[in-house]
Amino acid sequence: MTSPERRYTSLFIDLDNTLWDTIHDNKKCLEELFVDYQFDRHFASFEAFYALYLPYNERLWERYQNQEIDRRTLLQERMLHVLRPMGIRDTRLAMRLNRDLNERTTRHTTLIPGATELLEHVSRSYRLFVLSNGFHEVQSLKMERAGIARFFRGLILSERVGARKPNPVFFDYALHHTRTRRTEVLMIGDSYAADIAGALRSGIDALWYNPAGLPPPGNLSPQFTVRTLDEIREIL
Ligand SMILES: [Mg+2]
Repeated sequence: MTSPERRYTSLFIDLDNTLWDTIHDNKKCLEELFVDYQFDRHFASFEAFYALYLPYNERLWERYQNQEIDRRTLLQERMLHVLRPMGIRDTRLAMRLNRDLNERTTRHTTLIPGATELLEHVSRSYRLFVLSNGFHEVQSLKMERAGIARFFRGLILSERVGARKPNPVFFDYALHHTRTRRTEVLMIGDSYAADIAGALRSGIDALWYNPAGLPPPGNLSPQFTVRTLDEIREIL
């Protein structure tokens, strides 16, 4: 279901797990925390610690995305959850661990294969904007360090907007702020719920980066689906 009548002038692009490998980098950072804070005294292995952290963090992110919880609750709860088996219920320590974790994540910049080549290619023909639900203290610094900031005309972060993808308020803000009509923009992202369904419900075309080749979990169909970033260069 392509939209040949549409002529894109601008691309809205997600960051986490679309341009850089957030899952990989965050795991590395958690492993550093695990060692530095000597959590091995309480857990059999890092994998045991990570197995507790990961699904709980994902559930919290989903609730954060749906605006059911605020940033502080997300941060505090994910750390308290892993501190609990150690018999620790210290919210200040939980927040200190988060600051430490977020600071470390700005220094791990593993890009998804083909990310730089894609940005080099599309930045010749389109205006590029980041649309991200990620944390403000992480995203712009990490973009600089990953060497991709230079490709973008702007960065729209949910924390600044006060609404998150997939909320239409977020997409309307992005359109207004970038002075772009919804018919001339394509949203590119890995999250079906946040990026794809969010854009389509706002009348914006969408390209789903779907490396696992999953079936769409909803009844909205993106205009394009790819399994690698390299495929996008053949489309745009
Ligand atoms: Mg993402």
